Amino acid sequence: AASVESLSSSAKVSLAKKKVSGNELRRIFSLARPESWRLTGAIILLFVSSSISMAVPFALGKVIDLIYTTDAATMNRNINMVCGALLAIFMIGGFCNFGRVYLMNMASQRITRNLREKVFRSIMIQETAFFDYNKTGELVNRLSTDTSVVSGCVTTNISDGLRSFIMIGTGVSMMVYLSPVLALVSLCVVPPVMVIAVFYGRYIKKMTTRTQDALAEATQVADERIGNIRTVKTFNKEESEIQKYKDKMALVLELASKQSLAMGLFYGMTGFSGNAIALIVLYAGGVMVSDSTLTVGSLASFLLYAAYIGVSISGLSSFYTELNKGLGASTRLWEIMDRTPAIPFSGGLVPPHEAKGEISFKSVSFAYPNRKDHRVLEDMNLLLEPGTVTAIVGSSGSGKTTLSYLLLGLHRPATGTIAIDGYRIEDLNLAWLRGAIGTVSQEPVLFSGTIRDNVLYGAPDGVPVGDSEVFDALREANAFNFVTEDLPHGLDTLVGERGIMLSGGQKQRIAIARALIKNPQILLLDEATSALDAESEHLVQEALERIMKGRTVLTIAHRLSTIKNADQIAVLDKGKVAEIGTYDALMASDIGVFRNLIKHQAFQQT
Ligand code: ADP
Ligand code: MG
Repeated sequence: AASVESLSSSAKVSLAKKKVSGNELRRIFSLARPESWRLTGAIILLFVSSSISMAVPFALGKVIDLIYTTDAATMNRNINMVCGALLAIFMIGGFCNFGRVYLMNMASQRITRNLREKVFRSIMIQETAFFDYNKTGELVNRLSTDTSVVSGCVTTNISDGLRSFIMIGTGVSMMVYLSPVLALVSLCVVPPVMVIAVFYGRYIKKMTTRTQDALAEATQVADERIGNIRTVKTFNKEESEIQKYKDKMALVLELASKQSLAMGLFYGMTGFSGNAIALIVLYAGGVMVSDSTLTVGSLASFLLYAAYIGVSISGLSSFYTELNKGLGASTRLWEIMDRTPAIPFSGGLVPPHEAKGEISFKSVSFAYPNRKDHRVLEDMNLLLEPGTVTAIVGSSGSGKTTLSYLLLGLHRPATGTIAIDGYRIEDLNLAWLRGAIGTVSQEPVLFSGTIRDNVLYGAPDGVPVGDSEVFDALREANAFNFVTEDLPHGLDTLVGERGIMLSGGQKQRIAIARALIKNPQILLLDEATSALDAESEHLVQEALERIMKGRTVLTIAHRLSTIKNADQIAVLDKGKVAEIGTYDALMASDIGVFRNLIKHQAFQQT
């Protein structure tokens, strides 16, 4: 059990409870490097616009003192001048703000795009077993939400934080310049607020990751149920699914409400502190004005600076919160991006010629990584000569489908070797290997798109394939007639989510054409046609028989005719090939596993 646990912890990308280190900060900021000129521009504009904002209270103070101290005529002249200058400055400020926001958002969007591309790639190249541990909803959440949180953190959030710093810095300096005594009095409130902000930030970080995780779980449920709505309805499970989703959302809400409480308390408190400062300043400043140690204008300026600082301090705390959110989200991204797939995605040997199609399994043992103690295959041996048909039979769960996964290199055997033309598949380039194998599975999945897109999905990338070849493949797959005659737009007919629904037999035949388009030397068939009506079954069957000719075929047989016509039948039992031979030989053999299977398993009689 211990080994199972250690394995799952390495394959499952879990939430690492790490402390924020300098390295982590450096790494998240390195994301912004490609956008450095945009960000630099935005920061320069930020400095200009912040300086202008910070000049306003001082200018206003001067205007007030002008009003109070000069005669009407000079005041009019001076005030026109000062206000005209202010108008020009405000216009510059407006332009700077426009540029800053535009550049920052562009940088943020571009960083999001880069991150998403990288994360999606990292997800795509992981080995199949990875997806047994990590739920789709969770991975999609990281791809869509965490990426934008991280990029927002290093751009707009940093910019807001920087602005708050600038405003606080200049604000404090101006306050000290205007009245050191008042400044000292009002700044006493700041340190305790900062301490609370730090604790608050930590709490929010913890709660955010928990909320995100709970949300991902709910999304997963929704995703699976909506995707399989027919199954849900068939079993009358709408209400219980609604309830299940409700429960998940209740958990999300519970976490979110704790977070809301913390947020409310925090904002209430900071808002109060801000007003408290204003009140103190007003009181002490009023006394000083009546003593004539301070002008009315200076007091007004001072009050405005205090208000600015109040706003900036709450800006600074939300900067800190967002920074923590970004760090939490980035940890989840690094986990995926740093993971080396257990089965290397690229590289490997590319044989100089096309595959001949000899396949050998030598003492192959295998257990799924999430069920280490259950050996699906144990010391299994099998040889497929080029151009022959091998039927695999065995009771349900005996490992037939698993065998096909191993041949495709989707999983690695624990011990033993699988070889194509004498090349071990762990040495082979996977694209070459999978290019040599055409597969048709029990329930083929077509992607939304046109019929043409779906057939061409089987062709290697970058090799142009014309419509005539698509038609050839469709003809061989017995799909030509229905595509050209029954479908409204022929090859251009949309299928899947946004198009028409194909019947099981039609889907299967498109899938056969898809497997054929690359003219594979090896065919891997999971040939269940039991779900099809008699006519489709006949069409599929005919197509399968046609395409088997001249290829090495490994077929998971459900039909007696396939079994009888196969060059050899391998009977899987207890992880091994228990018996192997032709139909007649196996029926006559003493071992009897095959005979038993024929007696008890309902093979289709056609
Ligand atoms: P068959 O195709 O012969 O019916 P499979 O190859 O699908 O059998 O499954 C063989 C065994 O492996 C079964 O016991 C099944 O429960 C187990 N198995 C299949 N897929 C997985 C998986 N992804 N993770 C863990 N166990 C699996
Ligand atoms: Mg199976």
